Amino acid sequence: MNIPELLLAQKAFFASQTTKDLSFRKSSLQRLQAELVKRENDIVAALHQDFKKSAYEAVMTETSIVLSELKLAIKNLGSWSKPKRVRPSILNFPSSAKIYKEPYGNTLIIAPWNYPYQLAIAPVIGAVAAGNTVVLKPSELTPNTSALIKSIIENVFDSRHVAVVEGGIPETQELLAQRWDYLFFTGSVPVGKIVAKAAAEHLTPVTLELGGKSPCIVDDSASIDLAAKRIVWGKFINGGQTCIAPDYLLIHPSVKDAFVEAFKKEVAKAYGENPENSEDFPRIVNTKNFDRLTKMLENETCLIGGTSNREDCYIAPTLIDEPSLDSEVMKGEIFGPILPLVTFHSEQDLERIIGTYDKPLALYVFTGKKAFAKRIIQRYSFGGGTINDTTVHFANHRLPFGGVGESGIGGYHGKQSFDTFSHHKGVVSRGTWLDIPTRYAPYKGKLKQLKTLMKFG
Ligand code: NAD
Repeated sequence: MNIPELLLAQKAFFASQTTKDLSFRKSSLQRLQAELVKRENDIVAALHQDFKKSAYEAVMTETSIVLSELKLAIKNLGSWSKPKRVRPSILNFPSSAKIYKEPYGNTLIIAPWNYPYQLAIAPVIGAVAAGNTVVLKPSELTPNTSALIKSIIENVFDSRHVAVVEGGIPETQELLAQRWDYLFFTGSVPVGKIVAKAAAEHLTPVTLELGGKSPCIVDDSASIDLAAKRIVWGKFINGGQTCIAPDYLLIHPSVKDAFVEAFKKEVAKAYGENPENSEDFPRIVNTKNFDRLTKMLENETCLIGGTSNREDCYIAPTLIDEPSLDSEVMKGEIFGPILPLVTFHSEQDLERIIGTYDKPLALYVFTGKKAFAKRIIQRYSFGGGTINDTTVHFANHRLPFGGVGESGIGGYHGKQSFDTFSHHKGVVSRGTWLDIPTRYAPYKGKLKQLKTLMKFG
């Protein structure tokens, strides 16, 4: 089946109302759950083949997250999809009012390579739970995981319900040229703009999960050893290829030396004296990204790391000392195991530096001062973040996950995934036993009455 034929088949399937049936949705998710549990070792192996991701990280950041999203959706499908009664307006008296959650219809989900399994399957769960059909386009840069995802989806779903289309830019562009009812994209800002343009063509609603330059502030009151440990973890997990990884450090000069020492110790503790030999440190996904990243190291002073091996796509965990703001490493999102360290003296310095960039996907602040943390959190606009840790806000399904401004539009996880893939339809049901005449013409002499009524509306 080519792409237009596939979409046509999915349109017909959606029109048959099958996907709206709650027990159909639930059994689909249960079948997916059984298959994912069965194939967990295959998934872990595919992720290792694609970029030497360790089994531990594969389970922690991919398979377990997907399984807990699935469990939550299966458990709560009934309550999430139930029409929600809201208070009626007095202007409509007598009446009742409800919000109905209805599926958009035919959805397209486009996934990136960095968490190639989790970022592909998690949105599929939301879309299926909400009663949509799905075409999923996984990343071509992680071919083993993509092929496995295709085989999993084919084992579980009728292709009229959920299907995978593999491929790169031409296939994605062909998909984007079709008319969808919802687009869900995770990836880079430039491609996000291409997706937004395609969505505009048909006024298709869209979620864009993008990237950005996420700052990580360490002030003079922070618990330095703990900050170093948590930053090393959040920065170098997945080889630094995490959309919410701390992108650059903003550190108070009075704690810089102690921080650098602690950081060195933590890297050695995590990955040994030579991280290239560590089974826990993933590789850069391909040579194109390797070359992009190693270019950032040119002319910089490395406080640790700085070594690389192109044949193995290895770049050591690296800390760069005080790059200038117009250097290669400070220009755009790094998306690799390189962390630039910039010192700040005052909150004005923070404003000047953070203000250089678009609104980031994440922000982290390490401090012992609650008031400082509160000021930072409220002063800056960012997708989401953590005080005294990195990236862990991702793990709470009760928090919406998504960006703002250039880092994205919309959010998902947990119940919000279901809501993202549902149109919220507001419906008023009017009583027929009374019909207050105020709103009907002729209006002469009714304005005062209207104004009084509006006060209660
Ligand atoms: P990408 O934008 O290059 O690719 C994402 C998807 O778009 C892939 O499936 C790819 O095939 C497709 N694509 C690429 N170029 C295209 C084009 N010209 N036209 C149409 N489709 C195209 O992103 P990536 O390199 O896979 O992922 C890295 C980026 O994703 C980083 O910027 C990162 O911050 C971001 N990201 C964001 C999140 C989030 O949740 N907000 C999560 C992971 C990654």
